[in-house]
Amino acid sequence: MAQRTLEPGEIETLAQRDIPRIILPERGTLFPARAERLRALVEGNPIGGYLAMLALVVDAQQAELDGLTAVQLQALQQSALAQQPAAAADAGMPPLHAASVRRDAHWRVLLRSLCRRCAGHAGFPDAVGATLARVIEAPDDWLEGQADALLEVPGAPPVDVAAAPLVMAALQVYWLALGLAFRIEALAPMADAPGLCPLCGFQPVSSMVHAKAPHAAYRYLACGLCACQWHYVRVQCSRCGTAGKDIAYQSLTALDASADAIKAAPVRAETCEHCHGYRKILYEEFGPEVEPLADDLGTLALDILLGEQGYERASQNPLLWHPEQE
Ligand SMILES: [Zn+2]
Ligand SMILES: [Zn+2]
Repeated sequence: MAQRTLEPGEIETLAQRDIPRIILPERGTLFPARAERLRALVEGNPIGGYLAMLALVVDAQQAELDGLTAVQLQALQQSALAQQPAAAADAGMPPLHAASVRRDAHWRVLLRSLCRRCAGHAGFPDAVGATLARVIEAPDDWLEGQADALLEVPGAPPVDVAAAPLVMAALQVYWLALGLAFRIEALAPMADAPGLCPLCGFQPVSSMVHAKAPHAAYRYLACGLCACQWHYVRVQCSRCGTAGKDIAYQSLTALDASADAIKAAPVRAETCEHCHGYRKILYEEFGPEVEPLADDLGTLALDILLGEQGYERASQNPLLWHPEQE
């Protein structure tokens, strides 16, 4: 049977129409899958101890999420949605903009409760125990300032690097809870800022090429805050938008492996010669268990390799802060 050949423009239009643009996280599975992946990455990892500890924090995140009653959840969502002026939605502003939403005080309840859960666990060293106690007892103002700092609110105080992963963990629970009010049909990647989360405006932690229908072979950026994923074309820098010959890929197998092995690495760095930045790209086809936040943390050696070559991380992992990043 004869078929008409599509012109490139037509192919693009068809592709745009058919690609599922948004993937939203599920309340019951995001954190458990992340915790399981963190645990799977512990053995032989230079920061294995940290990954094991974070897995406990992620368990606590799920416990906090499970602990929200339907009434609490609805109240949190309504208070955030009521702040969304129609004009902002029309202007393409993300509806749960991280730096603009006035957070309900309940996020601090989540934070202190999460810290108490962790404090009751034997898996944390003394230094972390001290940080947990410090966060539990910290004044509300200080916690709000720390949240502002992590969410890049202008004028925020410096980040407390020890407390940052805990504060961020609570913010992730809060934003995931808010995001549950949305359906994928209500969202689309932002035309003006395709590299930022269309739900909360935060930076992606990494990107992932999915292997399962209907997302197979498409690349999505994964939000470091609310865990929304949005479509982003492949072979294009998610930091500056440059595409084509300036984009290259590196993996930890690159130095001593065959080209086939490099192609089969489940985690690679997508580097850009235009902005000298990189972000990691995960391939579900080669690692069915990969998880955007966990696998980014689990491949710190790749960051070191790229740092030595002068490439800059496009954005940091929300659960790992270094003093020099203040
Ligand atoms: Zn987001
Ligand atoms: Zn770039």
